[in-house]
This record gives sequence, C-alpha cells and structure tokens, in this order.
Amino acid sequence: MTEVKGIFDAMRTPPDAAARALITKAHAFSERAHEGQKRFTGDPYFVHTFETGKNLALFGMDAQTISAGLLHDVLEDAGVTEQDLEREFGKNITFLVTGVTKLGKLKYRGLERHVESMRKLFIATAEDPRVLLIKLADRLHNVKTLGGHTKPEKQQRIALETIEIFAPLANRLGMGRLKGELEDYAFPYAYPDEYKKVREILKEHGKVTEKHVEKVQRSIQKELAKEGFVHFTVDRRVKYLYSLYKKLLRHEMDIEKIYDIVALRIIVPNVADCYRVLGIVHSIWRPLPGRVKDYIALPKTNGYQSLHTTIFTGDGGIAEIQIRTEEMHQAAEYGIASHLAYKEGLFSFLKRARTKQHKSLGWLNDILELQKHMAEGEGDQYLENLKMDFFKDRVFVFTPKGDVIDLPEDSTPIDFAYAIHSDIGNHIGGTKVNSKMVAIDTKLKNGDIVEIQIRKDAHPSNKWVEHAKTTMARRHIKSAIQKKK
Ligand code: MN
Repeated sequence: MTEVKGIFDAMRTPPDAAARALITKAHAFSERAHEGQKRFTGDPYFVHTFETGKNLALFGMDAQTISAGLLHDVLEDAGVTEQDLEREFGKNITFLVTGVTKLGKLKYRGLERHVESMRKLFIATAEDPRVLLIKLADRLHNVKTLGGHTKPEKQQRIALETIEIFAPLANRLGMGRLKGELEDYAFPYAYPDEYKKVREILKEHGKVTEKHVEKVQRSIQKELAKEGFVHFTVDRRVKYLYSLYKKLLRHEMDIEKIYDIVALRIIVPNVADCYRVLGIVHSIWRPLPGRVKDYIALPKTNGYQSLHTTIFTGDGGIAEIQIRTEEMHQAAEYGIASHLAYKEGLFSFLKRARTKQHKSLGWLNDILELQKHMAEGEGDQYLENLKMDFFKDRVFVFTPKGDVIDLPEDSTPIDFAYAIHSDIGNHIGGTKVNSKMVAIDTKLKNGDIVEIQIRKDAHPSNKWVEHAKTTMARRHIKSAIQKKK
C-alpha cells in the first residue's frame, strides 16, 4: 500500500529514469527515518508522508517536489538534521522541506509557534512556490484522517483553519478540486450541525435534480452527435457539499433557488466548439435570463474559464450547463499545476507566476508586504488580517480601463483606491460606481466599475479607518493622518 510504485502510478506524466531514482531514494529514506513511529490514527507514520508525496504526484508536481513531500516531516518528527538531508538530497529539496517544517518547540510555543511558522511558510513560498504545494498536500491528508483524532477541540481547530486559510489558498492557485476536497473533509468537524442539515436537504432534492439533468444529458449527447461532433464528453458533476452550504447561506437556505446542485459538463476540443455547443443548447432549451456567463472571454481572476448557462429543462426542472475545452477543464481542476507544459520546468514557471504579468501568484507579494508591517507577538492580529485581507470571500471590481481589482467582501471605494496606489487613496475627491456618484463607504459588488476622482487638496480623515476593510488601506490612512499632524 505504501510501495513507491503507488507514487509512480499517480504521476500524470510517466517519470523518466532520473525521476524514478530520486523518488525511490526519498521514499526509502523517509520510510527508514519514520520507522517505528505511529500517527494519532494508529497507522505507521510513513503512511502520512507517503500519502503527502502521492497527493503531490496527483497534483502533477515534479520529482523534486514529490520527493520533498515524502521527506517533509523527517526534520520535525524523525530527528534527521538539515546537514544529513542536504548531503543526501541537495539544496533544493532541503529548502523545500525546511520551508514546511515548523519552528523549534524550544524557542516558540503555542499560538506564537503556529503564527511564526505560517510567516516562515509564506517567506519560503515566495522563494520557491512549491513549498506551498507541499503544505497543501500535507494538509489534505491530515484533514482526510481527522476522524482519528481523539480530541474534538483539536479536530475543530484544524478543520476551521483548513476552511479559513488552506482552502482559500488552493483557490488562489486555481486548484478547484483541491479546494473542494479540503473543504468537504473539514466541513463535518468545523460545523457539525450545519453539515447534517445540508446532508438532509440534499437527500431530499438531489435525486429529483439528478433525474432532470440525466434527461438533458441524453438529449445533448444525441444532439451533438447529430451536429457532427465526434470528440466530446458530457458528464454530471455534483456540487461539493461545503460549497453548496455557502450558496444556501446566500439564498436563505432555500434549495429551490440553487440550480447547480448537479450540473452538466460538456468538454469539447476547442474554443469555437464551446460557443457552437452553447448555440445548440439554447436552440433546444430556453435559457434563464441573466445566467449566461462567458468566463472564456472574461476569465475569473484565478484563471477559471468556461461558458455557463442555466436552462429550463421543459419538464419543470432547471439545469446548469458548463461548456469548456479539455485544457480549461484541467486548469479548473488542477490550477497552477496544470500549466506545466514541463518545457520550462515547474520551478521557473511558478517563479514567473509571481511577476506582475502573471497574476496567479501576485497576491504573495501582498502577503509579504503585510508581514513586513506586523511585529512579532501580534499573532492573533496577524492571523485575523491574513484571513480578512486574503482569504475571505472576494469581490472582483473593475477600473474604468477594465483592469480587475480583487478585494475582500464588503470593501469600499477607499479600499479600491488604496489597492491601486496610496497616492490615489490619499487624494480621493469623489467616487463613481457604474458611472453614478456614490458615498465613499458604499460596499462594492462583483462586476462594479469604480472610478476615483482625484483632488489635490483632499486628504484622509479618521472616519475612513472605519470605512476601509483592508489592513493595507487602514495602514496608509493612519500614516497619512499622522504625517499631516
Ligand atoms: Mn505532515
């Protein structure tokens, strides 16, 4: 069950001889290092490091990252020294392992140890983004095995942290499948009562929806074949439970208002086919107004692309249909990891992803910026700011030129202005949202076009601190007021 072959089989591109040799060595080293150790579940400890390595293989990671995943706990839990590791596996793998290793128990304790370890994780991630993927692979296995814990408080703490920090991180990387899995494993431990309720609601409604959608599925398959399509797949995807719960919350727990409990997913060879299929679908079924979304021409900020439409099925049902290419499908499931054409190698791709041109990792720079301004010992505050500024639900708004600015929910034009530049924030004279003048504390909504009018003699007031949602805006406002004094 923990043989190295299990890793090779999970890899999305078959490993060459060098990759096999490296992974085999890391596998053997880790197994020996953790020999005799047991996890809280009672399993041999090596099962955990093996599964972490395997998760990385499933994400599509390279041999170095997989090896580092196999070795990720040898420094923290098996008494191996950094020197040993570097001698055996070199600098890169040692860097990856130290990046996910918690700080020493002697110097740091409790919350402080946790917070400082998180800071260290982001600093290491900025250096080599593969560190974060190892942390996520590690967390996925931890949360999968949460049931083995004896202490309910600990189960809940890990589950909440998974939902509040790690799932949003996976989302930021565009790794839809990972995000869904992290949330669904954590859900029953994070919110047990809500979990039971959603299960019940789904039990009643899931079957009915499934029946409607199945009928549409058969019709579409027939229709596409008739239109001459040869290479396509049509399948049903069931919404992740936690994501359904969040949607229910936005709709007063009324399941009748949710149309994508089960959605149809059509995968075709190219973009032109996507639009053709959309045309065919709309010529058969009437679409619900306002629910046709073209995320191909206008991708979500995490890179997600697809056409979405919702149709009346004709027998009283309503169904959502998602249309995309295979490439878009891979990107939606595996995000950043799917871009690896392997030509430039994982490492250099991820490094490039941090630059301005590639927005997928640009937020990392903002986290580092936040960390710079937080002193040690402000642990609670740091975690709160992190959750608020980076991992809360986001709204995506536009500049008049069409650039996307991504902000936490409930942000105001003040946050928007400071997200562009502190000079703009410091001189807000007036704000327009969708061409209308609005108050400065107006809450922004997805898709709003926001325009800031600059006035040279305008300056921030104390009131702004309350109206601003992001830590960054608040910090700039306070320092501008300070300076004026
Ligand atoms: Mn671990």
